[in-house]
Amino acid sequence: MYKKKNGFNLAALGLAGSGLLMVMFGYVNAQGEAPEVIETDSHRFTRMAEGVYQVTGTGTVYLMSNALMIVGDEDVLLVDSHVTPNAANALLRSVAEVTDKPVRYLVNTHYHFDHAHGNQVFPDQVEIIGHSFTRTKLNGEMGNVLTEATHLSFTEGVPALVESLKAQVAAATDPAERAKLQADLEVQEAHMISLREIVPTPPNITLEDKMTLYQTLSDGDREIQLLHLGRAHTAGDVMVYLPQERLIFTGDAMLPSLSYMGDSFPQDWVQTLEELKKLEFDIMLPGHGAPVQGKEKIGHFQAYIGDLWQKTSAMKAQGLTAEQVAEQIDMTNHAPNYGQIRGPGADVRAIRRIYALLDE
Ligand SMILES: [Zn+2]
Repeated sequence: MYKKKNGFNLAALGLAGSGLLMVMFGYVNAQGEAPEVIETDSHRFTRMAEGVYQVTGTGTVYLMSNALMIVGDEDVLLVDSHVTPNAANALLRSVAEVTDKPVRYLVNTHYHFDHAHGNQVFPDQVEIIGHSFTRTKLNGEMGNVLTEATHLSFTEGVPALVESLKAQVAAATDPAERAKLQADLEVQEAHMISLREIVPTPPNITLEDKMTLYQTLSDGDREIQLLHLGRAHTAGDVMVYLPQERLIFTGDAMLPSLSYMGDSFPQDWVQTLEELKKLEFDIMLPGHGAPVQGKEKIGHFQAYIGDLWQKTSAMKAQGLTAEQVAEQIDMTNHAPNYGQIRGPGADVRAIRRIYALLDE
């Protein structure tokens, strides 16, 4: 069951059973306002505009990425499918709890495992839309994504994490701590098992630069723009732009934190973010983390990318290895914008990527 979190209790108002459902499906509460947050066992739906929800996890299922739900009068569009079939099944169960409308479209912001490896559980009638590059990656034309460095580097450690949690549960003496560790263990075990079930499943509808969907709403259709603004985090990033609502779901092309750069095109990325700045919106919904107000953080990330490229190029020219650069590079001038920067160093996967591009 779902519960609401914005301070009023529908049951206490005497709205139970189908009355409650009708209220929820209509996206209004007893005061005539849409609820701010709807929670299921596994998911939290935070209302950003009428029928538009940022979808995050409660922690009971390992999702690894945010999703977006856009509900129209007749159907639902989802953006991104999480990291495993297990996570995507939980998403579909949760969506069915908060709306009676069928899911018609799933959009993949990019091919990365944590956004697209839930694709396989979507029913046949759901159209999966993504960039043509995303299709090429997920259908295996460019090799098996399951054996790529990106997927392996984020998933190889899961069995060891499970073993470590088992040992911590066994060693825990405090009952509350033990219960917390046991819950973490169960989440990671389910994640580990579902990782083995993955069958990469590509979009069956592709776009190159832009596609616009018009979702039926009684008071005028909702314009949903799917935009590829250029290469960035991958070669096929798609952002989901709602011009009337002044919202944009940016996937991993723009995060509140430093985005993974192991498959990126850093120089294009800076320009792509320049294109993003030209769009009119108030809030960015990222593939990971909390919503971002305004455009200031775009400049911060452009500056980081440009600086990382420059410094890495210079250090490569001096003969350092990528691993040495990853240890020694000083990006602390960006620490005021990124709490994760606490000293010299950068993600070695980003540096290796820049080396590979410089060698091309
Ligand atoms: Zn990604």
